[in-house]
Amino acid sequence: MQKNLIDGLKVKLEQEKATLEKELASFAVEDKHMKGNWDAKRQNNEDSDMEEKADEVEEYDNLLSLEHSLELKLKNVNMALEKITAGTYGTCGKCAKEIETDRLQVAPEARLCMNCNS
Ligand SMILES: [Zn+2]
Repeated sequence: MQKNLIDGLKVKLEQEKATLEKELASFAVEDKHMKGNWDAKRQNNEDSDMEEKADEVEEYDNLLSLEHSLELKLKNVNMALEKITAGTYGTCGKCAKEIETDRLQVAPEARLCMNCNS
């Protein structure tokens, strides 16, 4: 893979990483003991009545699923960045062929080539 291409994708990945971390930090805290693991903050309102409490639980469930999907994306982005550092970026994790450049432009965190992903 061409170096200037990788450099361009690296910039994209770092931007993506910053965006994801910012988004996560707006409602979750990163686990100090387990890097890359985030927990949604639970709002504890002692004054809420039953109905409000039910709403809060529902809202927390929504946050949890959002937190999981963001965390997963962030993990993939971090993995791609590690691969760039290791010099193994752009290779399919399944068939070991080079991942299509078009595919990486759209999803720089992709780990499988189009063939293996479909
Ligand atoms: Zn493949």
